Amino acid sequence: MPRFRSFISLLLVLITTFLVSCSSPEVAIPTTYTPEKIAELQVYVKPVEEAREKLEVLKKLISDQNWVDTRTWIHGPLGKLRQDMLGLSRSLLPKDQDEATRLAREVFGHLERLDASAKDRSLSAAGVQYAEALKDYDAFLNLIPKAS
Ligand code: ZN
Repeated sequence: MPRFRSFISLLLVLITTFLVSCSSPEVAIPTTYTPEKIAELQVYVKPVEEAREKLEVLKKLISDQNWVDTRTWIHGPLGKLRQDMLGLSRSLLPKDQDEATRLAREVFGHLERLDASAKDRSLSAAGVQYAEALKDYDAFLNLIPKAS
């Protein structure tokens, strides 16, 4: 079946050509942060960094077992953090976007479970969710390039 074989080899040539043309894109995707890009990011970084103080307040409310204010604090002062973190994720280089988005969602998953724990007045569950939220928040900030 020579005809079939030549068809296969033609197909292989086509696939190889396609792969080669795909692997050498004309516009290179940036993989490092330029000082300009870092400066541009600051407008998004600032509100996310400022949330640390609000997280400290939250810690105090939990240890005081002030469940009403804990829940108000999550939905009020910390309510905008989700949007700020996701906005910052989208402004990062493509190589960091997925991880940043994942961590932003993690933080909010924990804050939602913390809200549920506060509703149940469970100090131990709230403490666990708070610690996890803080850990993911710190990991998120570690992804953000610093001006040198
Ligand atoms: Zn987590």
